[in-house]
Amino acid sequence: MGKRLENKVAIITGGASGIGEETARLFAEHGARGVVIADIQEQKGQKVAESIGSQRCIFIKCDVSDEEQVKSLVESTIKIYGQLDIMFSNAGIASAGKQDILDLDLNACEKLFSINVHGTIACVKHAGRVMVENGTKGSIICTTSVVAGVGAPPALIDYVMSKHAVLGLVRCASKGLGQYGIRVNSVAPGPVATPLTCDAFGKSTEEIEKYFEPDFILKGKENLKANHIANAVLFLASDDSVSVTGHNLSVDGGYVPF
Ligand code: NAD
Repeated sequence: MGKRLENKVAIITGGASGIGEETARLFAEHGARGVVIADIQEQKGQKVAESIGSQRCIFIKCDVSDEEQVKSLVESTIKIYGQLDIMFSNAGIASAGKQDILDLDLNACEKLFSINVHGTIACVKHAGRVMVENGTKGSIICTTSVVAGVGAPPALIDYVMSKHAVLGLVRCASKGLGQYGIRVNSVAPGPVATPLTCDAFGKSTEEIEKYFEPDFILKGKENLKANHIANAVLFLASDDSVSVTGHNLSVDGGYVPF
């Protein structure tokens, strides 16, 4: 397979772990000139960046819930690499607690929204701005979830609402930025065993895979993995998807939630 991101520069938020980490590795393999891993986990992010290679990949500490930090992340990327072609806005957290509408803790809800929703808005806004300023026909990809656009167990209410919001953002931003040739899409993963799911469900990787197995339409294949999601992100980031925008691409083994 040829290299699909030759000379491109990308930011990946939440790139220190799970889906973001796999995507950072894949982008570098596909010839990206610069991959910026942006995350709150400094040590882990540095380690991933070093293992990919210091010329090609760097770590910048960034809390996406703080718009100023996102703005500065984008500015630093331009200063270091001179361009920004791809923004993968992927950082996210799971529900803070098992709660349904009757006892929803609005403070916990607000914290989750500040990362999953406001953080994603900030990434799309500031990446969009520099792409417009520089005349870059870039690609912006957000991470929704298999739960975006459908109902879900009541206990996940805050998380599900946040991913519905991201889907709305993708659909509107694709319209706003389309006139500049900038594409905005999202990837909707099914359940993948990452620190996020393991912590949220209090289960090991093996237990998570076993727990969700009955709900996949596809049987007898390997379990859904972070690198399967990364491959879809690569497609949306590359010119292979040059006419795709406003799309929410499910990568879920045919997972049927709820
Ligand atoms: P993960 O925990 O492995 O990775 C999430 C990363 O986001 C971590 O490195 C974490 O430090 C970072 N992060 C958290 N808060 C941040 C903040 N404020 N600023 C910057 N970085 C921050 O989990 P993952 O499963 O790889 O999750 C990636 C994305 O995929 C999330 O948006 C998640 O909602 C989504 N998702 C995951 C699954 C799944 O089953 N794992 C399914 C659907 C959607």
